[in-house]
Amino acid sequence: MAEDFGGGNPRGLHFIAELANTVQDDPEASAADLRAVLEHHGGPPFELTEADARELREATAPLIRILSTTEEDRAAEAINSLLDRYPPRPRLVQLPGRPWSLHTRAPRDAGLTHWLLSTAALALALWLSERESCAWGRCAAPGCRRFFIDAGRRTPQRYCGPRCATRVRVAQHRAQRAGAPSGSADEQAPQV
Ligand SMILES: [Zn+2]
Repeated sequence: MAEDFGGGNPRGLHFIAELANTVQDDPEASAADLRAVLEHHGGPPFELTEADARELREATAPLIRILSTTEEDRAAEAINSLLDRYPPRPRLVQLPGRPWSLHTRAPRDAGLTHWLLSTAALALALWLSERESCAWGRCAAPGCRRFFIDAGRRTPQRYCGPRCATRVRVAQHRAQRAGAPSGSADEQAPQV
């Protein structure tokens, strides 16, 4: 299997974040759930057995740990250990009608774990070195724990998407209009 994980293109990283969110939300995510994530991100349309799904769920655990940290040294150490264990063997490939782009080549019969962790480690390594920080995070909205990739260049991203950002803004606005929140409302102003 080969996967396009060109540096500076966070497409592969969005796949990693969605996979982490899927497994975090449902530690028993089914083969159909995981296949939907793969296909949504342009992955190969292969069939996943339930055994494959279990393997993918387990392989996602180290990625969740990396996305959970914002300390560069710890993240770099974890990514390096994945690169040692699952060498991605990066190679420039030119697909018909496309520019040269960086792909990984898993050894034949390396399996899903190797494919996922070698490609993910390379994508995270390129991203960390390019952004010089852990440009990812976990949503700060109350009740949401979704991971996101911070592709912005200016202020650090705080929420997983516009929906959570709007929800927090509306709650803050309501709290301001109501004066000090009584503590009985569902939507209190979050700590910002
Ligand atoms: Zn969120």
